[in-house]
Amino acid sequence: MEKRIILVTGATGAQGGSVAHALLKDGKFAVRCLTRDIASQNAQNLRRAGAELVQGDLDDLDSLLVAMHNCYGVFGVTNFWEHFDKELQQGRNLVDAVHESNIQHFIFSSLPSYNKLSNGELSVPHCDIKAELEDYSKSLGIKATYVHIAFYYENFLTFFPFQKNEDGNFHFGFPQGDTKLSMVAAEDFGPIIANIFEHGEQYIGRVVGVVAEDRSCSEYAETMSEVFGEKVIYDYIPREIYASFGFPGAEELANMFECQRLYIPGRQRDMEESYKLNPKMQNLETWLKRNKEKFSFMEERETVEA
Ligand code: NAP
Repeated sequence: MEKRIILVTGATGAQGGSVAHALLKDGKFAVRCLTRDIASQNAQNLRRAGAELVQGDLDDLDSLLVAMHNCYGVFGVTNFWEHFDKELQQGRNLVDAVHESNIQHFIFSSLPSYNKLSNGELSVPHCDIKAELEDYSKSLGIKATYVHIAFYYENFLTFFPFQKNEDGNFHFGFPQGDTKLSMVAAEDFGPIIANIFEHGEQYIGRVVGVVAEDRSCSEYAETMSEVFGEKVIYDYIPREIYASFGFPGAEELANMFECQRLYIPGRQRDMEESYKLNPKMQNLETWLKRNKEKFSFMEERETVEA
């Protein structure tokens, strides 16, 4: 029997890449990957691993309809940080294409509405837009599972690298305070999605949270200090101060952490379900040890300052 086809969007990126490679490894579905640039290194790696590549763009509904032809399932992710408010229309195109293509299982990487969580006080477009898209998909009666993925460990390499301060210690900081921050390795996300596709009947109509760690930032800093043999300190930076830093997205991220600090006390239940779906998820310590060489910027900074 021919394998059922799953279209993976964002397959050259963190989430979709993890999903495509997990599906290819399992071998239960045929994997088709959507990309704007078939020639890119990541796209070609996917092709070599056994995926079919299809050129398309979330801005172009027709290209999505072509990409979804004959597909059983679709993994959908939209990228706020490249397109900002355009994410809404791109996500609508994705959902409309899924609807029109009569997809049997859509798994959409969404997030809760932080605006609703904060009773309208805080605006966090990268979450609020995804929540709106989730509502839109539900309103069309699409057979879907919505996954809410926690803060990636990988963010400490990209958005929030440690800074060395005058005290000689490494610091990271944002407005999360003492409230637990749920986290996960983006690379561990794929097997969860593969499992949900495989057991679709149990998950259609559900929201699944993806969480591997749920501890306070000070506790994470202790783990980081142990792994790196260097003191790492978490600093609570109040929302107003963080928002005033002025980099693109500073206010949005300030609001995100503030909302989590005030309204999301913990995600223990999500964590338990995530480990059932992927028992091999890495905790922060394991992930840091496996990825220690990627933090070489810590040594470089020391050399420069020495
Ligand atoms: P990523 O690694 O930056 O990859 C972005 C992917 O999106 C690429 O594969 C790219 O494909 C694809 N893409 C971008 N624009 C496209 C378009 N117009 N048409 C088709 N494909 C397009 O991103 P990611 O981390 O996997 O996902 C980003 C999303 O994750 C964001 O919306 C963010 O809010 C959400 N998120 C992040 C975290 C976190 O902690 N960082 C946690 C939860 C959720 P090509 O370039 O090959 O076309």
